[in-house]
Amino acid sequence: MYPQFFSSLTKEIELKLRSTLLNCYENFNFYRRRFKESGVTYDDLASGSPVEIMSSLPMLGGDSLPELSSESISSIENIVDMETSSGTTGDRKKRFISQRDDLSDHRLMAEMFRFCSINQNDRVVCLDTDPAYLMISFARALDLLGVEEVYNYAVGPDFRRELAKLPPLEPTTIFTVPSLLERSLAELEEFQKGPSGSVQKIVFLGERVPNALRTRLEKEWEVEVFSYYGAAETSSLGIECTAHEGIHLFTTHNLFEVTNKPPELVVTSLKQATLPLLRYKLGDLVDHIPGECRCGSSYPRVKVNGRVGDTFTIFGSDFHYESLLQSMYRDQNEIGFMQINITRTDRDVLTIVVPEEQRVNEKFLKQSLLKEQMELDFLVASRFVDLQFLYVDQEYFQSARKMKLVTDRRPRL
Ligand SMILES: [Zn+2]
Repeated sequence: MYPQFFSSLTKEIELKLRSTLLNCYENFNFYRRRFKESGVTYDDLASGSPVEIMSSLPMLGGDSLPELSSESISSIENIVDMETSSGTTGDRKKRFISQRDDLSDHRLMAEMFRFCSINQNDRVVCLDTDPAYLMISFARALDLLGVEEVYNYAVGPDFRRELAKLPPLEPTTIFTVPSLLERSLAELEEFQKGPSGSVQKIVFLGERVPNALRTRLEKEWEVEVFSYYGAAETSSLGIECTAHEGIHLFTTHNLFEVTNKPPELVVTSLKQATLPLLRYKLGDLVDHIPGECRCGSSYPRVKVNGRVGDTFTIFGSDFHYESLLQSMYRDQNEIGFMQINITRTDRDVLTIVVPEEQRVNEKFLKQSLLKEQMELDFLVASRFVDLQFLYVDQEYFQSARKMKLVTDRRPRL
């Protein structure tokens, strides 16, 4: 039986998939070994059904990446670039990029930015911390799209003073990471008050966008907020459209599947010759959004719910960060910050870390959390789990670029 794909498998996709499979066989020992283990021969790859072959292969995880990327340097010519993840939440991931892949990436990104209605009238500022390596690809794609101006704007430790030079550029669009924008809110607000400000759109990348931040920007700044979705191991994956109901996955460049439990997004690259990925688990939890989007695009849509590591189990019950977050802040005006730590003394201790300002709401937060999370309620009531609240400065949540949302420090059994 075929796995669940997010796109119809057209002839064109089959052709691209076959060429990916052949590239894997011809250039990567790693994949030749995999094919052999699954009983797939070169003849199968050349003339069999590529979808059937792909579906028979086991899924790959992040641990396969070091071998694949080291093979890619030795077997692929014309490497022009390297993409790495920021690496604060795990091992640093490397992806070497050939000239051809590079151009294909930039074309794809340009196509995505057109999707959120960025056009030749836009003046775009790519706001990053020093050094501005993260944004260079974005700036190049924006150039390709033909926007009026694109600036790489790196702010160092003295960002207050540096941001003061931003208004004369009259940016209509800002590309940045949520945590950097949060730290710069006060400075940026000075020139962006309601409809008189020049900024109309903000495109966020690299991190999940806190709901509170999104609401504030939409209501107070009157800007449109878009989430870009990509991973260090792949080219760009998708972007939010102007209907703002989920992220469209661009199935021209990648084939997507989702695993059963937990629902994790799996990618097979169709164009990435330098680092071809076959059924690679991205580690992102998604919900498939069924039906046509109001924007008219037929690209499938997902809601990205966080990382697989953001789930944990207590006494066989599965809990997920995002779901706990939503439950806890259900009756508050906005969804605030939260971090979860799990430790063990004579029993499991679940510590909910929240900003100091929430101390007055503890009773309500706890009530709404346990009202919706019935399994947790049972575990707490029967004293299998100790539920505690810990209060920290708001700064704590804003200082780390990629904060770990769940840390499980229980000893492994
Ligand atoms: Zn749409």
